[in-house]
Amino acid sequence: MTVRNGREFLAIPGPTTVPDAVLNAMHRPAIEIYSGDLVGITDACLARLKTVFRTAGNTYIYAANGHGAWEAAVTNVLSRGDTILVLQSGRFAVGWGETAEMLGVRVETLAGGWRHAVDPAAVEARLRQDKGGAIKAVLVVQVDTASGVVNDIPAIRAAMDRAGHGALLMVDTIASLGTMPFEMDAWRVDVAVTGSQKGLMTPPGLGFVAAGPRAAAAHKAAGLRTRYWDWTLRNGELHYQRYCGTPPEHLLFGLHKALDMLLDEGLENAFRRHALLAGAVRRAVAVWAEGGALDFNIVDPARRADSVTTILLREGLDPRPIRDYCEQQCGVVLGVGIGDLSGKALRIAHMGHVNAPMILGTLGTVEVALQALGIPHGKGGVQAAIDWLGGSVPAP
Ligand SMILES: *Cc1c(COP(=O)(O)O)cnc(C)c1O
Repeated sequence: MTVRNGREFLAIPGPTTVPDAVLNAMHRPAIEIYSGDLVGITDACLARLKTVFRTAGNTYIYAANGHGAWEAAVTNVLSRGDTILVLQSGRFAVGWGETAEMLGVRVETLAGGWRHAVDPAAVEARLRQDKGGAIKAVLVVQVDTASGVVNDIPAIRAAMDRAGHGALLMVDTIASLGTMPFEMDAWRVDVAVTGSQKGLMTPPGLGFVAAGPRAAAAHKAAGLRTRYWDWTLRNGELHYQRYCGTPPEHLLFGLHKALDMLLDEGLENAFRRHALLAGAVRRAVAVWAEGGALDFNIVDPARRADSVTTILLREGLDPRPIRDYCEQQCGVVLGVGIGDLSGKALRIAHMGHVNAPMILGTLGTVEVALQALGIPHGKGGVQAAIDWLGGSVPAP
């Protein structure tokens, strides 16, 4: 006996829900790739990505996932033997560093733990020690999808400035772009990467990179450049060169529609929507936490992301039955912990094409699971979420 049948809701932090309008935009025959419609779609997507990254720099679209975008970023600005500094705050910046390491880059990691954001003062102190300027780039994620942290990118930029260090600042915005403010140019980020399948509401399979002027300058001397990722080749005259081969047409049809939707809503409105829905999730989790069986993974409330919430379970409590109950009995798919949090955490994504019923439904389902499984929790988490939204979302 279940209450599962109906539309399943995917509450994992990527891929996220793809809007019907995006799916419909993809449902068309293939078209030619040298002229015509597709050229306009490419130009529009590249321009809209600049709007979303908030940059006047160049944008690049790769037939790749986020890992591909990582590799694209590294190979275009670095050389074998260069040193980079990876700012750890969970799983993902470290993964980016592993990509660089395999390409022959020397990787230093500034350890930060899994429950806290990167400490800008520690970044400053580390860079001050690098008197010879050996560190060529600093790699950091805006939101770490594993830990649920949001790092303060402007504060990290300011720390680099205080240290008087000239390294490039490279930021992974895969789990944040389109969900919360990111100001590539105003924050003087040199390279930003993202992917299609999270805040950007498009199926997985596209990776994006934006490059500012300092990155473009570093590119000229970069020794790791390869044909597929290379910015210079992609800047060429022919449409075909934008993709180093056949464009991933259908994903582009979807992306074009998704970026339209995002910019029609307005970036500020999309950020506000995410902040409100994240607030609802946090209200509920705070109430459940009173039972002592679970808590926020990220200790500082100000550093909890607006796109994903990671819930840490009490030592010895297995997240699997909760996840399975939600999926198999109720039709909501939650994320589980990964990396250091494997077997210890649950993740609720609230990013991309999400609204109040999707989030309230998810929260209600988690509360049903906690009750059905006899897991101690404060009562009224969903009520707290309702109170928050009712008090925050004004009448039209
Ligand atoms: C999802 C994610 C990635 C990896 O993206 P893939 O498309 O799975 O390769 C990298 N960084 C962050 C912050 C992510 O959320």
